[in-house]
Amino acid sequence: MIELKGIVKRHGAVTALHGINLEIRAGEFFALLGPSGSGKTTTLRILAGLEAADEGRVLLDGRDVSEADPGERNVAMVFQSYALYPHMSVYDNIAFPLRMVGAPDIDKSVKEAAERVHIGHLLERKPGQLSGGQQQRCALARAIVRQPRLFLLDEPLSNLDAKLRMETRVELRKLHRALGVTTVYVTHDQEEAMTIADRMAVFMDGRIEQVGTPVELFARPKSLEVAAFLGSPPMNFFPAQLHGRSASIAGHSIPLQTDYGQRDAVLGVRPGAIRIAESGITARVELVEQLGESAIVDLQAGATAVRARIDSRVRLREGDAVHLAFDGEDVHLFDAQSHQRL
Ligand code: ADP
Ligand code: MG
Repeated sequence: MIELKGIVKRHGAVTALHGINLEIRAGEFFALLGPSGSGKTTTLRILAGLEAADEGRVLLDGRDVSEADPGERNVAMVFQSYALYPHMSVYDNIAFPLRMVGAPDIDKSVKEAAERVHIGHLLERKPGQLSGGQQQRCALARAIVRQPRLFLLDEPLSNLDAKLRMETRVELRKLHRALGVTTVYVTHDQEEAMTIADRMAVFMDGRIEQVGTPVELFARPKSLEVAAFLGSPPMNFFPAQLHGRSASIAGHSIPLQTDYGQRDAVLGVRPGAIRIAESGITARVELVEQLGESAIVDLQAGATAVRARIDSRVRLREGDAVHLAFDGEDVHLFDAQSHQRL
């Protein structure tokens, strides 16, 4: 459906994209995830035709649209800022793209789009008389009213409070299911991407590090950087020496499932995979954060800071000396130099 081939984009001395290759399938809900400044918005704007790439091609349904105007691409974009026309009513905002192209049955289309996002009762208001969540719905209605073949969203939930963000996330997912429109969704929030996307691409410094389903990326991050970016609290990392089927970290030996030979590595283990045990890595409890069912515990194991998610019934106090253990199957290993997964 969408193909980006070797996309390079420069802004003066800054190279925003270093040769992006990406395929997005028809009907997918696809997230572009990455830290601020990693090139997500630039990629979206190039897809929309709002910016031209310096190198590379954009294909939509097999057709090269690299030189095509936004209007010719039949894509709709929703921005973080919503970009509503303040002097127009909600009705006129939603009707605007239809009037621009002289579409038939405008009244019916506007009312249908408004109903879909539950703002049918607000059509007479101006954007200034709406809450943040309602403005966001108005922007969504304006985007879906034209029945675009591609729906582009740039951090659409970032101006909403936490509760509304979660609710709207679920609604966006339902809207996608109902309309079936291919959707590309930009976010820096890994939890948002993990919960909403069919597949996602992780951006770092203008490059795509990895593409896959949320479950694939979480289970097998290709690099230490991707591993560190996905999951909350983030993965813990220990310097490790590998000797065949065992890893030695902080003076402790962990059996491994594969023979990795002799090498220096970085061993990663997620907070939820760490247990408080009778023996293992010695650590000191620094802080306990109760979350209800579980607790997040900050520990210091020698020079390494560690975070563990444990059952909140395990009583720990700041200053306690404990032992940490985890299973070889829960371990992620990365090359000490290249940071690539072993
Ligand atoms: P993201 O959306 O992932 O936060 P962007 O795509 O907006 O990142 O930006 C990628 C890089 O390109 C950043 O380093 C940013 O500062 C730079 N950049 C983006 N737009 C411009 C511009 N118009 N002029 C100069 N640099 C820009
Ligand atoms: Mg951005």
